[in-house]
Amino acid sequence: MSANPAAPAARYVPPSIAGDYTELTDKQKQLLAIAGDLGRNKFAARAGQIDRDAVFPFENYADMHRAGLMGICVPEQYGGWGADFATYVMVAAEIGRHCGATALTWNMHVCSTIWTGQVADDLDMTPEQRADHEKNRTVHFKRIVEEGKIYSQPFSEGGAAAAGKAPWGTLAKKVDGGYVVNGKKIFASLAGAADYYGILCTVDRPGATQHDSMYLALQRDLPGVSMVGDWDPLGMRGTVSRTLLFKDVFVPDSERLMPEGTYAQAVMRWPHMFATLSPTYMGIAQAAYDFTVQYLRGEVPNTPPVKRRMYPTKQVAVAEMKVKLEQTRALFLQNARAAKVDPTKEVRLGMYATHYTIMENANDLCRLAVRTCGGQSMLKSLPLERMYRDSRCGSLMLPLTAELCIDRLGRECLYEPGERDEEPAT
Ligand SMILES: Cc1cc2nc3c(=O)[nH]c(=O)nc-3n(C[C@H](O)[C@H](O)[C@H](O)COP(=O)(O)OP(=O)(O)OC[C@H]3O[C@@H](n4cnc5c(N)ncnc54)[C@H](O)[C@@H]3O)c2cc1C
Repeated sequence: MSANPAAPAARYVPPSIAGDYTELTDKQKQLLAIAGDLGRNKFAARAGQIDRDAVFPFENYADMHRAGLMGICVPEQYGGWGADFATYVMVAAEIGRHCGATALTWNMHVCSTIWTGQVADDLDMTPEQRADHEKNRTVHFKRIVEEGKIYSQPFSEGGAAAAGKAPWGTLAKKVDGGYVVNGKKIFASLAGAADYYGILCTVDRPGATQHDSMYLALQRDLPGVSMVGDWDPLGMRGTVSRTLLFKDVFVPDSERLMPEGTYAQAVMRWPHMFATLSPTYMGIAQAAYDFTVQYLRGEVPNTPPVKRRMYPTKQVAVAEMKVKLEQTRALFLQNARAAKVDPTKEVRLGMYATHYTIMENANDLCRLAVRTCGGQSMLKSLPLERMYRDSRCGSLMLPLTAELCIDRLGRECLYEPGERDEEPAT
C-alpha cells in the first residue's frame, strides 16, 4: 500500500520532560498534561513580552490558579493536589520549558506549601507546636486554594546568611500577640506581585544563632513594608526581584509559617528543600535542545523552512547535546525520587551534584544551541536568546550556588562529621 500523499509531514514532537512516561503515576501524568497545555498554548507566547518589559507574569498566574496549580503541593485534606516533591519538580520543569520566569517565581510560591506541608510533617514538634502549626497552615492553605493568594520567598540579604553561614540579619522581636520585624531582603522575586512575603528572619533575643530562625508571612501592604530599587537584569527578568524593606512591621503570631526553631531543623533534616530551584533550569535545558532539533529540521515557527540537519557537524553537535541532556535528566529524576527526611550522606551529596549539574548544564546546552543553530537563531524574535540569558542565572541562586555546591562536595567527600586535620608539624 502506498503512503497517503495527503498525510501531514512528520514533525519533531518534544518528548516528556520526565523520561519514560509509563513509569509515572496517574497524578504525575495528569499534572504534567495540565502544565504542558498551559505552557505550550499560553505561557510560551507571552514569555517574550514578559522578558522585554521585565514585568511579572500575572496572566500566567491567573491561568495557574484556575487550573489548581497554585495548590499543587497543598495536602489533599486542605483542597490541594497533594503532590509530593518528585511530582512537583517534574511539573515545574515542564513549566520551565515554556517560561523560565514563571517557573522560577512559581517555585518561590510552591515552597511556602512544601515547607509548611510535606517538610513540616516530617519534623519533630511538641504537641503544642504541632497544634499551633496546624491552625496557622489551615489559614495559609485556604488563602492559596480558595482565594488565589500568591506567596514569595525572600531570604537573601547580601550577607552570609543566605549561604547558611550566619543568622538572618532581619530580626523579629517578640511582642504581645506577634512580632515586630525590621530588616531588608534583596533579590526578592515577586516583589510587589506576591500577596504575602514568606520571609526568613532571626528571633531577636540575646545570643541568637541560626537555631533561632523564624519563617513568617508578611502581608504585602502592612505598614512599614516598602519596595525599593529598580529591576533591569540580564535574565529571569519577569521575576521582578526588587529589594524589600521592613521597618517596625507588626506581624501577628498567626502568620508563623513554621513554629520558632523548626526552620533550622528542616535545613538539617530535609536538605532537598532548596533543590526546588533547579527544575526550572531542567526545563530550560530541554527547551534549548528541542529548539535546536526543530531549527535544524526547519520547523521553528517564523523562520524560513530551511533544513540544516544533513550536515555531519550539526549531527555531531546535536548528539553531544543529547548526551548532556540525558545525563542531566537522569540525575534530575533520580534526585527527585530520592528526596526525603533524613537522607543518607550519599543521597545528600548526590543532591548537591545533581543541582550543580542541572544549573551548569542548562547554561551549557543553551550555549551549544546558539553555537549549533547559528546567528539567525539568536535574534530577539526567537526564544533561544532568552533561554541563554535565563539559564545564566541558575548557578547564582543561594544557598546552592554552583560554587557552594562544589565547596560542600569537596569538604564532605573528604571529611566525616567532626573530623579535623592534625596540627601541621612545626
Ligand atoms: C533571577 C534571580 C531571582 C532571585 N530570587 C530570589 C528570591 O526570590 N529570594 C531570595 O532570597 N533570593 C533570590 N535571589 C538571590 C540569590 O539567591 C542570591 O542571593 C543572589 O544572587 C546573591 O547575590 P550575590 O551574588 O551578590 O551574593 P554574594 O553574597 O555576593 O555571593 C556571591 C557568591 O559568593 C559565594 N558565597 C556567598 N557567600 C559565601 C560564603 N559565606 N562562603 C562561601 N561562598 C560564599 C556564592 O557562590 C555566591 O554565589 C535571586 C537571584 C536571581 C539572579
